[in-house]
Amino acid sequence: MRLASTAAELPERPREGTRAVVMTMGALHEGHLALVRRANEIAEQVIVTIFVNPLQFNDPSDLERYPRTLEADCALLEAEGVDAVFAPSVEEMYPGGDPVVTVSAGRIGDVFEGARRPGHFDGVLTVVLKLLHLTAPDVALFGAKDAQQVIAVRAMVRDLAVPVRIEAVPTIRDADGLALSSRNVHLSSQDREAALALSRALAAAEAAARNGDPAPDVVRTGMDVLTDATRASAGVAVDYFAALDPRTAHEVPADHRGEAVVAVAATVGGTRLIDNKTVLIDLEGRP
Ligand code: AMP
Repeated sequence: MRLASTAAELPERPREGTRAVVMTMGALHEGHLALVRRANEIAEQVIVTIFVNPLQFNDPSDLERYPRTLEADCALLEAEGVDAVFAPSVEEMYPGGDPVVTVSAGRIGDVFEGARRPGHFDGVLTVVLKLLHLTAPDVALFGAKDAQQVIAVRAMVRDLAVPVRIEAVPTIRDADGLALSSRNVHLSSQDREAALALSRALAAAEAAARNGDPAPDVVRTGMDVLTDATRASAGVAVDYFAALDPRTAHEVPADHRGEAVVAVAATVGGTRLIDNKTVLIDLEGRP
């Protein structure tokens, strides 16, 4: 496996077959590895990028305490048979400081994660586009765990005619339902227990959708689970729980029919967690 810190050090493209890229910020866990395994299934050559992108952090202390474990990450990726790791420095990616020209996530960047983290999706799209140019893959894989990120990346690729295929990979969870995240290391065992309310709330919302309930009832059902959790544990604070349009990331109208991304964000013991589930709202049997 090659470890490259500049694009020039990346291996040649395969003569035949495809190149896949998986973009990460490191501190790799089974969720990231699911993306890598899927990439290995569909491509002859797999490049994993590891870059903690300062542009997408609006809180300097979050950036500072973000876990960095390059050596362990490389060992995991080597074991997966990855062809190359691209781990550029901040100076390599942004010589001379922040870029002058950036990508705007537009309306997608104004809501939910974007509203709480101003500039976050502009930072994400800017680094994604730059990494796409540097690694030139045929396909790029992203985790469904970061639903709004997938929506934003798909929109950028569509709107700016970026020549790459985007594939979303389902969220990997611990046996108890908690979505894997690099931030979970910050959770105490008590926090972890409380954090299970997120996946429980999503499961309740999914059951309501399956029952034929309209979007507002689906959301209320999930929110009730979270409200109980906030009563039981002072360390849980809900940021949002909503049903989003999978193309725009804006809240769906009350009479929405079709797929919706039920998304949740909450702070548990000071750590901000997000999760989501795609549900089908078909209002079965309703007028
Ligand atoms: P990050 O390092 O957090 O930027 O994540 C890199 C990629 O891994 C993103 O596309 C994430 O959506 C994806 N990812 C993170 N956690 C999970 C998970 N639990 N299941 C599936 N994909 C994930």
